[in-house]
Amino acid sequence: MSVSISKGLVRVGSSLARFVKSPNFSAFDGTKPKIAVIHFTYGGSALSSAQWFTRADVESPVSAHVVIDRDGTIIQCVSFEDRAWHAGKSSWRNRHGKHLSGLNNHSFGIELANWGPLVKTVSGWKSHSGVPIADPVLAEHKNGNPSGAGGDIGWEPYPEAQVNAAAALVRALASTYGVDEIVGHDDIAPTRKWDPGPAFDMAAFRIAVFGGTRGADTDNVLTVSVDEGLNLRNGPGQHFASQTLLPAGTRLRPEQRQGRWLYVTVLKENGSPLSSGWVHEAYVA
Ligand SMILES: [Zn+2]
Repeated sequence: MSVSISKGLVRVGSSLARFVKSPNFSAFDGTKPKIAVIHFTYGGSALSSAQWFTRADVESPVSAHVVIDRDGTIIQCVSFEDRAWHAGKSSWRNRHGKHLSGLNNHSFGIELANWGPLVKTVSGWKSHSGVPIADPVLAEHKNGNPSGAGGDIGWEPYPEAQVNAAAALVRALASTYGVDEIVGHDDIAPTRKWDPGPAFDMAAFRIAVFGGTRGADTDNVLTVSVDEGLNLRNGPGQHFASQTLLPAGTRLRPEQRQGRWLYVTVLKENGSPLSSGWVHEAYVA
């Protein structure tokens, strides 16, 4: 499938993709987004999610640039020239080492129609709305399952046609806008979000888009880079009390930014969260 983008609009072959216009967008704040954020809709058809994005009269109006159906059909909701509202409170250290927060201003949002985490019933795995899913991916989410329960749970698989369409679209974003990084919503908002989740093979997807060895890419983890250690503070400033002195090499996951201060989750050896607080970005790498 040949996917291209001109004047912010997706073309598949020579035809414009269906456009279900969302009113939920704003202007990019002078930035040129270089990141694609992958989501699942937690819903049924792509059209049903696109129609949800037309709602401005809800408590938290949201949108994405596109929704891709399970059969690979692309529905556009927001022009790529505009900022969609898909990421919420989020942060990411990009592949050039810069700490970004509020990813709507730095990224394009790609939703994949998918039910996400499934519910186990006596008649098998079902979506939260009761749709049976025959061959779920069984896995534990890397950030912990949404329910908080440990161990493998069912997740709706992503069909090949859908993943291929998403890869073709991100390649078009790369050639049109220079997108050079792909992340999951669960990478940039790890305490709130589980999409696209373990059923989405991010490493294979990055390689499908960028080729080579880009599967590994960055993992949004910082380390304390000063030998004398770094204070973990209760607020974003030196006048806030220090909770503890983090030894050199301590791994931290950035959650949000305020000026040059980062709110971080301190990670244990196995990557699970230990505590949270503020550190100055000059002392992490
Ligand atoms: Zn999401």
